[in-house]
Amino acid sequence: MTSSQMLSRPSPAKATALHAQASPDFAARLAETEALLQRAAADFQPLTQASSLGAEDVVITHIINRLRLDIPVFVLDTGALHTETLALLERTQAHSRAPVHVYRPEQESVIWFIRNEGQDAMYRSLQLRKACCNIRKMEPLARALAGQRAWVTGLRQAQSNARAEVPLQDDSEVASKGLHKFNPLARWSWGDVWHYIALHQVDYNPLHDQFFPSIGCAPCTRAISLGEEFRAGRWWWEDETAKECGLHVKP
Ligand code: SF4
Repeated sequence: MTSSQMLSRPSPAKATALHAQASPDFAARLAETEALLQRAAADFQPLTQASSLGAEDVVITHIINRLRLDIPVFVLDTGALHTETLALLERTQAHSRAPVHVYRPEQESVIWFIRNEGQDAMYRSLQLRKACCNIRKMEPLARALAGQRAWVTGLRQAQSNARAEVPLQDDSEVASKGLHKFNPLARWSWGDVWHYIALHQVDYNPLHDQFFPSIGCAPCTRAISLGEEFRAGRWWWEDETAKECGLHVKP
């Protein structure tokens, strides 16, 4: 199933029922993912998983816990997440074998920004949207990655054109940031992700049942409709090429 085929919105339905469809070589993809995570855990300490608590990330955390790799997980609580995401964060912290750390923005910066630019500044210009992302995401991300040798993300090649070349192991930021990046689901389809979730009954964000394939901050995420692309619900008022918050943008 392609990302644009999954998007009919007749009524709320379980995302697992709508999307779970394993690729013919799913077993090989899963084995590749597990081997990569095992190698990363063995050879690239310290490392950490960045989780937005989206479908891909809950799969990776589940694999980390199932294989007892004890790779710590971190979540950026931007202060603007949906209540459903915060509830999932609590459940994940309660049930994960690997520790789950939460990084939040500096309150003074958030207050300063809102006082000067307003709550809805992100809709006014790309510059203001990126300023908000810098305060709420990029600065906490820098703290989360400080001292790490590698990080694990849920990027997939099929998520967008900008991510079509995502490799399993990305060493392109070793020189600039000293960080290896592992993308263990790089070759997975959306159907593979939901097949795994259904197979292992993985806890997931109920917003996925309401046609939110990609979930970020509440003001900047909406449900998508029939025919829309996977990340159409993120920063939907912006040009396609601008649709990254900076977490995965190359210098
Ligand atoms: S996604 Fe939206 S609310 Fe979240 S940090 Fe970026 S601009 Fe701010």
